[in-house]
Amino acid sequence: MASGALSRGALPLFTFKGIPVRLHWSFIALPVYIGWSAFNEGLGWGHVGLRLAMVAIVFGCVVLHEFGHALTARRFGVGTRDITLLPIGGVASLERMPEEPRQEFWITVAGPAVNLVIALVAVIIMALLGLTSIFTDLLVGGAPVWSNALLFLAAINIWLFLFNLIPAFPMDGGRILRSVLAMRMPRERATRIAAGLGRAVAIIGIAYALYSQQPFLALIGVFIFLAAGAEARNVAQREHLRGIRVQEVMRTRFWSMGAATTVRHATQELLQGGDTALIVIGLDGLPVGVLHKRDLIHAVEAGRANDRLVDLPPREAPSGGIDDGAHESTERMILAGLPLLPVVHDRRLVGALDLATLDEYMRLRRANESPAQN
Ligand SMILES: [Zn+2]
Repeated sequence: MASGALSRGALPLFTFKGIPVRLHWSFIALPVYIGWSAFNEGLGWGHVGLRLAMVAIVFGCVVLHEFGHALTARRFGVGTRDITLLPIGGVASLERMPEEPRQEFWITVAGPAVNLVIALVAVIIMALLGLTSIFTDLLVGGAPVWSNALLFLAAINIWLFLFNLIPAFPMDGGRILRSVLAMRMPRERATRIAAGLGRAVAIIGIAYALYSQQPFLALIGVFIFLAAGAEARNVAQREHLRGIRVQEVMRTRFWSMGAATTVRHATQELLQGGDTALIVIGLDGLPVGVLHKRDLIHAVEAGRANDRLVDLPPREAPSGGIDDGAHESTERMILAGLPLLPVVHDRRLVGALDLATLDEYMRLRRANESPAQN
């Protein structure tokens, strides 16, 4: 899954091979849940500590899994902005997922493969140390199973391996299925099939989770259901936008002001009917950056009404050209976390690309292509 929004509100943990690993704020739910359930079961601090250590081991393996994706992607020239840990798993935010099915296949397979390797290594070490008797103890039912770190490591990685191979977006299994299908059919159709299967699996998972009263499993099911739909929409939009240039979908009415304008002046215009975002223009007439109307209000609240717009400063915005592809430009805008993308032609600001207008364009286009029968 690629989402720049995830890294906001995330605690940086460490950086490895140039890729920062972060902990999403919602992660706090996990230790709280563990402490709460341990408390309900009347367990002591030792048990809580043990369970937290187990969670730490699981997420250590999740991080290695994500690095499997990220470092394989790097081999295909695709960078990773960060790896974010959520209570329900990890997300490596790749700059893009290659449309070439073979590349998507290898990048995706690399994650579960890491877990398989860890499990195999753990099993081999156990065999070498003669700890296989634990398995027989396990069958008899008397062994303190979870106290054995190696067995836990093997079990959890086999579980991670199998769980991620569930054929549902955004689980790796869904991507592997899509990439294999896409080697034989158009990517959009492959995605529709994989997403449909993903939703079906998610519904079964949610039903099972509710039946067996496992709230985290139900949460993962809902997440998968939504993600499957989002993936299908993203690919469908990409297909519909294929061959469409920025010029066709950009707005030619937009809100722009000079860099030396004060925040106060800008907010006055905002109240007279501004826009959701303001393009800040330098002396050369080219965009310096973009300000969301929120940024202006926050600036006034912070007592900066008399500051110049350029000093806030505006969010840096890459500008697009009128002949650029509409989909690529939209992705650039989303990646940069911008409300709109300034469009420049002949060294002049000529338009703005934004999601709302793009959505309206797509809906009107579809309506015009297949008018309702009456
Ligand atoms: Zn994965």
